[in-house]
Amino acid sequence: MDLDKSPVDSLKGVGPSLSEKLAKMSIHTLQDVLFHLPSRYEDRTRITPIGALKPGDTVVIEGEVLACDVTFGRRRSLLAILEDKTGRIGLRFFHFNKTQQKGLSPGSPLRCFGEVRRGASGLEIYHPEYSRAQESDLPDRLTPVYPSTEGLSQNRYRQLVARVMDLMDHGEVLKELPVLENSISRLNINDALRLVHTPPPEIDLAALMDGRHPAQQKLAFEEMLAHQIILRISREEINLLTAPGFSPPAALHRKLQASLGFTLTNAQSRVAVEVANDLARRSPALRLVQGDVGSGKTVIAALSAVHAVENGLQVAIMAPTEILAEQHLLNLSNWLIPLDINVAWLTGKIKGKKRSSTLETMASGEAQVIVGTHALFQSDVHFHNLGLVIIDEQHRFGVHQRMALREKGGSDTAMPHQLVMTATPIPRTLTMSLYADMDCSVIDELPPGRSPVTTVVLPDNRREEVISRVDSACRTGAQAYWVCTLIEESEALQCEAAEVTATRLAEELSGLNIGLIHGRLSSQEKTERMAEFKQGKIDLLVATTVIEVGVDVPNASLMVIENSERLGLAQLHQLRGRIGRGEKKSHCVLLYHPPLGETGKKRLNVMRESDDGFFIAEQDLRIRGPGELFGAKQSGSLQFKIADLIRDHHMLGAVAEASKRLLVKDQTTARAIVARWITSPEEFSQV
Ligand code: ADP
Ligand code: MG
Repeated sequence: MDLDKSPVDSLKGVGPSLSEKLAKMSIHTLQDVLFHLPSRYEDRTRITPIGALKPGDTVVIEGEVLACDVTFGRRRSLLAILEDKTGRIGLRFFHFNKTQQKGLSPGSPLRCFGEVRRGASGLEIYHPEYSRAQESDLPDRLTPVYPSTEGLSQNRYRQLVARVMDLMDHGEVLKELPVLENSISRLNINDALRLVHTPPPEIDLAALMDGRHPAQQKLAFEEMLAHQIILRISREEINLLTAPGFSPPAALHRKLQASLGFTLTNAQSRVAVEVANDLARRSPALRLVQGDVGSGKTVIAALSAVHAVENGLQVAIMAPTEILAEQHLLNLSNWLIPLDINVAWLTGKIKGKKRSSTLETMASGEAQVIVGTHALFQSDVHFHNLGLVIIDEQHRFGVHQRMALREKGGSDTAMPHQLVMTATPIPRTLTMSLYADMDCSVIDELPPGRSPVTTVVLPDNRREEVISRVDSACRTGAQAYWVCTLIEESEALQCEAAEVTATRLAEELSGLNIGLIHGRLSSQEKTERMAEFKQGKIDLLVATTVIEVGVDVPNASLMVIENSERLGLAQLHQLRGRIGRGEKKSHCVLLYHPPLGETGKKRLNVMRESDDGFFIAEQDLRIRGPGELFGAKQSGSLQFKIADLIRDHHMLGAVAEASKRLLVKDQTTARAIVARWITSPEEFSQV
């Protein structure tokens, strides 16, 4: 019996209904049971004297019920007072019945488990688990708590793990992977799993809770390794496919460069060459172009698009939102139409006749460059000869989505080249892990003539000053953004807040033209608003974070960001990148709501001191607010069971080494690691 091959229902007592529930959690084999790891632990191994309790403790206590009464406060509840030799505590139940009331009658000896908090009667535990004292022994191990066990109790899952551990006791062990000899921890994989599922009480609990225990680090290493391996395998598979090898850039390419009205920066030229070399290969290129906001990534996209067109191939350019896609349409049309290139436009909003005629021009090859959103890759969209896909500001395409591109490439064995452009500054150590399947280019230089943005950090009680500053700036011909942010995730609320702010500012700044842009406007309204701003008809644009990426209005030189302490540094950097694009000296005002904590101060100071996205990202990594580096959507793209790229990034170098070595030396083991950690490729890396 092999743990990795035996299905869960080979365990006694696991029937069809339970295995179905487990399957929903991607748990199919006994090995999968072991790799569903606890998210936290409870210490139920000892009894804490009531007199020693503090709010926030999660503990087992034992005592005798002193009194038990229904109380009528703001909410009706049942309150039992439990007493031991050292003190008293209240047990409060908001939902209760007669039987419960009886079980808690005065004089009953009780054992309880729960979290201590400050309540109306002093220290209390709300809805503790309880049983008669001394009815059973205390467990001798910490109690693991598992992530989402839909329709399955924690206890039931713990029993399953215990059964699999039993098998391990009887010699059914997982193979230790030879590659890990010199890795992070000397623990054997079996011992590591055992420790993580059933930690002894003397374990370093703080380390365990943080995921820093050697057993967890060992597992985290293996998990990150699995992810890198699958990225590399997927890359190797892509290398086996063919792509059209482009001839070197020619006349059209030169014509575009000549028409730009500026010369490429050294960084742009270097990246343009890297991209052109990629496109000359007969296997699909997969290149990430990283460049800070304003570094001029669009030109690189345009040059490579022209390169494809020169080779008789089509290009699809995809942006994550309509507004960004429209900006690209605008820029690319300006550059490409004079070169007699046919630019088409496809988004989800385009329907009916318009859509079918666009689809026709795409299928016939008449449309040479097609700009749009995700709609470009719907299943009924066909290309004539798609040679290059450019994805802008998109964190990453999932492995399976990438494979689906094959279809658009016209055959099972061909795939278009891919260029991914991102302004999200990612520290290099993380790039290795997130993009192990891609080649990376960095545009590490801004076009000349940009003056760095001066940033000030102010409490929001100085709002009036800021408003008069906006007033005087706009009266001298400058344009400004006023960015409203709300902590609520709800877009509706954000838009409402922006509306209220715009109305108020319009009263306070009656001499200025004030525009409003937010996510609930139709894309036509948004485009119109942006166009008015670009033409200078609007002085002050009140906006939600919809302007975060890609928007380019060089005359805008002032930006006020409200509640800046609530945004991630990467996001603040993106927003601020909307200014400092023209000749005028630009200023950014970060308003915050006092008081600002130590971390908050440090973070906003980073923004004040630096304009360099990569530096900011590194600092963000150091100071780290939870998960903000990648933003909500992006963190969804790499779901780890135990690893945490930020916490564990010190291991990434070793992980990269190991994955390379393993793929050369021992493919079987490499695939076994992937199978352990990644149940299905679809789970991995979704857009
Ligand atoms: P991003 O990298 O943020 O997408 P863009 O491609 O939007 O940046 O470029 C920002 C602005 O800089 C645009 O107005 C673009 O025309 C201009 N630009 C790009 N490259 C250069 C250059 N080499 N010299 C001067 N201006 C440039
Ligand atoms: Mg851009």
